[in-house]
Amino acid sequence: MRWDALCKPKSAGGIGFKKLHAFNLAMLGKQSWKLMTKPNSLVAQIFKARYYSRTSFAGATLGHNPSYAWRSIMAAKQVVIEGSRIRIGDGEQTFIGKDPWLPDSECGFINTLLSEQVKSAPIPLSNRSNADSWYWMHEAKRVYTVRSSYKMLVPCLDIPSSSIWNRLWRLEVPSKVKHFMWRALTDILPTTENLIKKYVEVPPACPICHASSESICHILLQCPFARTCWMTSSIGFFGDGSNLLLWLEALFNRYSLEQTQLAVMICWSLWQNRNAMVWRGKTSGVQQLLNSAGHFLFQWQFVRKHQFLFSQPSPIGNVIRDSNGAFVAARCCSIPERFSARDAEALGVREALSWIKQLQLSNVTIEMDCLNVYNALVNNLSGPSSFSLIIEDCCALSNSIRYVSFSFIRRSANSAAHSVAQAGNSLSGHGEWRAVPPPFLIADLVGSSS
Ligand SMILES: [Zn+2]
Repeated sequence: MRWDALCKPKSAGGIGFKKLHAFNLAMLGKQSWKLMTKPNSLVAQIFKARYYSRTSFAGATLGHNPSYAWRSIMAAKQVVIEGSRIRIGDGEQTFIGKDPWLPDSECGFINTLLSEQVKSAPIPLSNRSNADSWYWMHEAKRVYTVRSSYKMLVPCLDIPSSSIWNRLWRLEVPSKVKHFMWRALTDILPTTENLIKKYVEVPPACPICHASSESICHILLQCPFARTCWMTSSIGFFGDGSNLLLWLEALFNRYSLEQTQLAVMICWSLWQNRNAMVWRGKTSGVQQLLNSAGHFLFQWQFVRKHQFLFSQPSPIGNVIRDSNGAFVAARCCSIPERFSARDAEALGVREALSWIKQLQLSNVTIEMDCLNVYNALVNNLSGPSSFSLIIEDCCALSNSIRYVSFSFIRRSANSAAHSVAQAGNSLSGHGEWRAVPPPFLIADLVGSSS
């Protein structure tokens, strides 16, 4: 496929790649824009002194022995000037015949009789004496952006988008399936028909039915095996199967989103089945193919919807310091299931208490940054909720340790414990340090003792 076709936006049947030369110019344009609009900046003054001491940036030329940076900036200068106009203030710095100051999107220069053009130009003037300044025409805020500059350089981005492509890219199916459909619709899959066009020597017949030559329409729609799959599925067979784009359009118009997604999955499975036949000499049965297409889609959508339930187990971090704030021990562990934030905090306190008990420490103050848990502990909360069950555990544990008190501190003051908890993520859950603090904790300990 041609690079130009790939550079079309996704909504117009391309894949949205950037044209690198144009994109590079658009990015360099940002530097040119800064030199042009901020002439008092240090960088602008240095460039001015070296390359255009007697004129403005707009009048600058490449000059003798230019540096790589200046060459690059000058390459983008024309682009910036083309998309910019001068806003007239006191008119001091603008040359009537040389500068683009007419607010005309086609051409900002005087090119016919001066009086005529000035009369028709809608230029508002201010009573204050502002200096003349540049503005960028292609953004509402009138400030240069790489995006609008790239759009100006690559006008083909304005080709009308087709709803088919937009609808295809918005489907909730795995990305590889969407890309497969895009390749099928742009006919760049290695079907035997396409391979023969590229002078690859392959048997021309369809590897499944051996009855006809293999085009993408044949393998996905017309092949007797594909036809049986469609007729057995809830989608059914429709149309004459000679144009994939029209078939997809009809699919979008006739069926619900869920059914369209299933149909796209069946297309993908048909292609996988064809590949299995070509490379391994195996094919699935109709029912097996339909089941696996549906099952794959279901599993993929299920995982996407419930991904937060499968997230990392909540880490817990505890740090013990003596009354002078010196490090005694630290520990991290993880709670095996997903709990609410409040329950997880309470479980963290319970873990800390049982650890303290295990270490046979006494005279302990437990600092925490969760106000809910603190209030519940201080008020000896009891009740039917799972949260109060953990709090009751905590109270029972604290009664078995000599002299335990609880104190509430701000989250920012508890950064050491959070660092330990976070380390738990990378240590696959568990870690314990005695006497010597782990390296990642030193900054927090120093920060909190100063
Ligand atoms: Zn066939």
